[in-house]
Amino acid sequence: MSSTWWVELRRLLLVLAASAIIGALAGALTAALAAGLGLLAGWHIWQLQRLRRWLTHSRRAHPPETSGVWGDIYDQFYHLQRRNRQRKQRLAAIVREFQQSTAAMPDGTVVLAPDGTILWFNSAAQDLLRLRSPDDLGQRIINLIRHPQFGEYLSRGLFQDPLELDSPYENGVRLSLQVIPYGREQRLLLVRDVTRLYRLERIRRDFVANASHELRTPLTVIAGYLQSMSEDDDPALKPWRAPVEAMATQAARMQGIVQDMLMLSRLDDQPQPGVEETVDIAELVSMVCRDSKAIAESGLKLACETDHTLGLHGCRSELHSLLANLVANAVKYTPGDGDVAIRWYRQDTQACLEVSDTGIGIDARHIPRLTERFYRVDEGRAREQGGTGLGLAIVKHVLQRHGGELEIESQPGKGSVFRCRFPASRVIPLRGERATDGPACG
Ligand code: ADP
Repeated sequence: MSSTWWVELRRLLLVLAASAIIGALAGALTAALAAGLGLLAGWHIWQLQRLRRWLTHSRRAHPPETSGVWGDIYDQFYHLQRRNRQRKQRLAAIVREFQQSTAAMPDGTVVLAPDGTILWFNSAAQDLLRLRSPDDLGQRIINLIRHPQFGEYLSRGLFQDPLELDSPYENGVRLSLQVIPYGREQRLLLVRDVTRLYRLERIRRDFVANASHELRTPLTVIAGYLQSMSEDDDPALKPWRAPVEAMATQAARMQGIVQDMLMLSRLDDQPQPGVEETVDIAELVSMVCRDSKAIAESGLKLACETDHTLGLHGCRSELHSLLANLVANAVKYTPGDGDVAIRWYRQDTQACLEVSDTGIGIDARHIPRLTERFYRVDEGRAREQGGTGLGLAIVKHVLQRHGGELEIESQPGKGSVFRCRFPASRVIPLRGERATDGPACG
């Protein structure tokens, strides 16, 4: 038993002894004992009252002087409170430091509650989004950034990539907004001014587009002359036949590269295809197979399996280019006695366009990089086959514009599967109707 309890016990015994002596002298032992215990109980009630008063009114002051168990209780409370105060101060300092560091960040930061109301923002967010403190605290962010794309971004809930848009407040300023979920359904909105990057990207794109465009005409002339020279039977040209043919092949390759670069520039510039046009993919597959000279000349076995009741909202010319590139690759990288198969089918709510072959296959380490511009597994072989190195970059770009994803499965020596997966939002049943042509795209 601790010493404070001994003090209490002593106090009780003292009261009982004093009451017993007084009671014995006065000849009323029971009454005296009852009075003594009553006094002790009254004293404890008074102590309780003092404790309550101290806890409610003067917690910060030193506890009142007392001994025994009550002194111990006061001490415990006092230390507990001091510890809590110090912890609170430490937490407040951390929060202050966090707020000061985020306030000093050049990027805008807005803390959002689960229902999208603003809990806090820094001064960069104040400048970039024209938020006012404290008026806008507690307002819903969607009511302050009135941009349809932003509303869509928030409601879609896919926050892996940032959203880029023109600033609704300042002309010529480009903003990047990204939501980062954390804690209990809270969200952090990061806002960056990406005007400089956007302009540089624009300059790069314009340069590639202009250079490709400027190269197109001279190349057509050169390729045209080389073609006629290689077909000319004039004996004077005989010693030149081999170099002229080599030049014609290289000129045709350059034309292919320029054409693909122009296609990529167009994809960069065009707005995303809407849902106005419905493309009959089964019909597109038959057309590509029918028109492909490469398939006809290759001697490969070609199989098509397509769902005629399945349509796709998108841009026909872009989807044609996607399919033509995949089929051309399958033919290029499959030896003459192999098989190529094209499938168009529904998978759950999504739709897949798949081109598979029994060709040379691709080592797993190359797969993540295949869609990079000019990336080739075997540089020499690809050039020999007349590839531009841009085919799969076009495929990926078209897919991204249609909200789709490219899946590649391949085994060296066994063959490859290139599967384009389209989201449910673009899949549409055709029910025997003819697909419609929407506004020109791509
Ligand atoms: P390229 O014009 O060189 O074919 P692509 O961008 O179309 O460029 O393809 C990139 C690389 O991916 C090719 O160089 C080739 O190595 C590889 N590749 C693409 N399709 C296939 C395929 N069906 N089988 C094997 N390798 C392929």
